[in-house]
Amino acid sequence: MGVRLIIMGPPGVGKGTQGELLAERFGIPRLSTGDMIRAALSAGTPLGERVRVYYEAGDLVPDDVVLGLIAEAFDGPETAGGFLLDGFPRTVAQADGLGELLAARRLELDAVLSLEAPEQELVERISGRRVCEACGLVTHVRAVGDDAPCPACGCSLIQRSDDLAETVRNRLSVYREQTEPLLAYYARSGTGLTAVDGLGTKEAIRDRLLDALRRAETAA
Ligand code: ADP
Ligand code: ZN
Repeated sequence: MGVRLIIMGPPGVGKGTQGELLAERFGIPRLSTGDMIRAALSAGTPLGERVRVYYEAGDLVPDDVVLGLIAEAFDGPETAGGFLLDGFPRTVAQADGLGELLAARRLELDAVLSLEAPEQELVERISGRRVCEACGLVTHVRAVGDDAPCPACGCSLIQRSDDLAETVRNRLSVYREQTEPLLAYYARSGTGLTAVDGLGTKEAIRDRLLDALRRAETAA
């Protein structure tokens, strides 16, 4: 069987963190197009070079690029038992493309989760976000202080190139213009949309998401 989920929400809302917890809980892979793009950028692949300008400006990379990445993942063995999509789809064209990829494989979504938080909180979370260059740990200056080393491995923490203040404002407006319409798109779909409050501790939000999933299941 397997579980097939989408987790949506604005930049900085905690999709990555919560997506990881849910994926672990259900034993499914988290497919993050953002992570796939960052991997291509740091490996310097042709795909990475093609999308660098978009990524660094905080713009969306072209739909065909991310649809290609997702199609490839769907054809690999790791998604046979389900998957959680994080950061995809982000445009109506991507959602239509996803619908076609699923229909061709006779698969259906079990739930579309939408995490929500006020804009002020999003800006603060993203601008304070730091990642470890060596081990990939994601943390916040609120937790570790300014200019601190990685608490896990001692290497240096850096700011993601698209987390700089200017770029963050652009990512939020891109979200409002191109991605937010997908909330209505999925609310009208057979799967429906399940909205969850993204404020609070990691554990509280995880429990809210699990509750929401149980409710979505009994409603279906
Ligand atoms: P966040 O949700 O915090 O913005 P992501 O890692 O999901 O972080 O995305 C970072 C960047 O990667 C986006 O600003 C965009 O340039 C690119 N990206 C990721 N997913 C997609 C997608 N589905 N479509 C287009 N661009 C994407
Ligand atoms: Zn580290």
